[in-house]
Amino acid sequence: MIRYDSEGAAQLRDRMLSRVKADVAACYQCGNCSAGCPAAFTFDYAPNQIMRMLQVGMLDEVLASSAVQLCVQCLTCTSRCPRNIDIAGIFEDLKTVAVAKDVRVPEDAATFNRVFLENVAKYGRLTEAMMLLRYNLMSKHPLNDAELGIPMLTKGKVEVLPKKAAGADEVGRIYRKSLEKARWEG
Ligand code: SF4
Ligand code: SF4
Repeated sequence: MIRYDSEGAAQLRDRMLSRVKADVAACYQCGNCSAGCPAAFTFDYAPNQIMRMLQVGMLDEVLASSAVQLCVQCLTCTSRCPRNIDIAGIFEDLKTVAVAKDVRVPEDAATFNRVFLENVAKYGRLTEAMMLLRYNLMSKHPLNDAELGIPMLTKGKVEVLPKKAAGADEVGRIYRKSLEKARWEG
């Protein structure tokens, strides 16, 4: 059952407006975002349902949803919304808030997101081998996808020893600052 939390809803709406420049209240539930979402079949709530939950202030439920964690940021929803709502931007912002608040999320998604972001923050770009190695160790599946990873390593498709990109330190600084901001505002 959807409950209405008017105070929480107003706070959420203000935060989305200030952080993402997106007004969740403008959503009129046409469903275009969900119809075009290539990852919706993996979500517990479709994008339009997430929008409705945000409208009524269900932040905790949204932060704990697999939808927020499994969004692949393809931007299809944003490009199709007749109300010009940046739905993908909202999902990305919520993902950051979930990391900052250490929200428990399903399917090792939090581990994946954290390892991915820390990898980019450290090297200034994604270094696949290091990220997957660390993810497998942290998610306690050390041999996960080994049958795919080993041939890629031996054929030189992924680099074994990662190199930092130019500006990596700046990327790391931005990452830490955005985490602090999300903790402060979350
Ligand atoms: S496409 Fe836009 S208006 Fe339609 S349901 Fe999604 S967010 Fe709401
Ligand atoms: S950005 Fe995320 S929510 Fe939007 S269509 Fe792509 S996967 Fe779905």
